[in-house]
Amino acid sequence: MLVDSHTHLLMLDVPPEEAVREAAEAGVGALVNIGTGVEDSREGARLASRMPNVYSAAGIHPHNAGEHSTAALETLAELAAGPEVVALGEVGLDYYRDRWPREVQRTLFEEVVSLADSLRMPLVIHSREAFDDTMDVLKAARGPVVLHCFEGGEHEIREASERGYYLGLAGNVTYKNSETARHLHLIDPERLLVETDAPYLSPQPVRGRPNAPKNVIHTARFVAGRLGVREEELAALTARNARDVFRLPLEL
Ligand SMILES: [Zn+2]
Repeated sequence: MLVDSHTHLLMLDVPPEEAVREAAEAGVGALVNIGTGVEDSREGARLASRMPNVYSAAGIHPHNAGEHSTAALETLAELAAGPEVVALGEVGLDYYRDRWPREVQRTLFEEVVSLADSLRMPLVIHSREAFDDTMDVLKAARGPVVLHCFEGGEHEIREASERGYYLGLAGNVTYKNSETARHLHLIDPERLLVETDAPYLSPQPVRGRPNAPKNVIHTARFVAGRLGVREEELAALTARNARDVFRLPLEL
């Protein structure tokens, strides 16, 4: 069984029920829906509480860093108390789009890191063109960390591995220019996750179409091929890792 460790069910063209059913038919037995803002996180938690095998994370994406307020952080903490909410995220830094000033992104990020520590929740991190600053803020994190949509090369893999971070591989690892794909063997197998980030980043061979959780199978197949392991082995390994980091009640 596969786990899509990072997906946005509320942003798909199709109803979440349909996406989850199609994913299950493709062998994706559990999904973690990721929050990108206060309302999205609230909706995601609701979705997860009524759908089996769907879990949720509560966070504020750096693109929405302007949502930052004491009330917003309190809401994330309230949501995190629900059994269906398994992580805080996504949060982090995005210097590619720079939608909000970097100090604004960073302040929010720092506060969510400290919230995760006080609640003992894992963190799901979005970092784009901001690796060093992201790693700097994460020095304060004492719990598990997932670097989602990881696209680093050798240096970044080594740094993240030293700290024991989980690396979430999305569809972009299947693209020809992927630096990560060339260094997959450097990643600790115990820290490897696969994800879709649907509706974004459709993997080969469905690139160019809207992404869906069922497509995590293509990313898993690609990674298995590169590592020279059987697909089922990679599925089992990454599902166990997702279960461990998010403490999912999965029987594997
Ligand atoms: Zn995402």
